[in-house]
Amino acid sequence: MIQDDANAKNKVLTDDELAAWVTHEHFMQLALQQAHYAGELKEVPVGAVIVKQGNVIAAAHNQCEQLHDATAHAEMIAITQAAEAVGDWRLEDCTMYVTLEPCTMCSGAILQSRIPLVVYGAVDPKGGAVESLYQLLNDSRLNHQAAIVRGVLAEPCGAILTDFFRALRKLDN
Ligand SMILES: [Zn+2]
Repeated sequence: MIQDDANAKNKVLTDDELAAWVTHEHFMQLALQQAHYAGELKEVPVGAVIVKQGNVIAAAHNQCEQLHDATAHAEMIAITQAAEAVGDWRLEDCTMYVTLEPCTMCSGAILQSRIPLVVYGAVDPKGGAVESLYQLLNDSRLNHQAAIVRGVLAEPCGAILTDFFRALRKLDN
């Protein structure tokens, strides 16, 4: 199941849909804040939060540079934090909010941790494994799937990345 919030804006929403959308934007704002922290630390600005029953149980950003670790994507760190918070590797009633479409590694971790709903901001045409290059969260050959809501605050989630890489290129020149 893929919902597209960008399209949702152009139609009349039911109260439930509107409430869900407001909720998604609220938590995506927190993920975006994490992305900003990452940018300040010269990390690729991607942020993720995990929410359980309305409570934020994990908030993380990319730390590949700081930790010298290619696996230190925001989603991976958030999943570890959330598992610690609930005392279980199964994150069955949690929602992940992430500013960028997850990559193959993070999509794998989302399935392994059984997160049932992933809400993301910007699409990643070069590395996204949720819809762009692969549709890993919707592959019926795998044991688990996750529902997806895409395009929540897509514009600021994408802009922070574009600005970051533009600034990097300027430094290179
Ligand atoms: Zn990733």
